[in-house]
Amino acid sequence: MKDREKEIDIVKIAADEMLKGSKMLGEHCKVCGFPLFQDRKGNKYCVYCRTLKEREEKEVKREIVSPSSGDNYEKIVDKKIEYLFKRLEGEYDVARIVEITEAIKALLKLKSKLE
Ligand SMILES: [Zn+2]
Repeated sequence: MKDREKEIDIVKIAADEMLKGSKMLGEHCKVCGFPLFQDRKGNKYCVYCRTLKEREEKEVKREIVSPSSGDNYEKIVDKKIEYLFKRLEGEYDVARIVEITEAIKALLKLKSKLE
């Protein structure tokens, strides 16, 4: 069932196109084999390929908009600092304590750069 959800609903797309006034032609798309449509202006097009292309464009846009800014890095650094403090709490080996403290210092320094 899940795979079907991911698929493009061809029947619905075709119905939508016809509602818009386009008609289904006897020709088929050379790329995907989907029946070609013709809009009111006489332009032939493949709904399936067009939908795929639109989806790709949307995904590309989402990637650009997605938070890859400093905001995200800060969260990662915060998590690491939190983790290290927890480690520090249960650590009794002096060498390890020094190591963890150094790591925390480095992360705090990094964080101040991100801010
Ligand atoms: Zn096509």
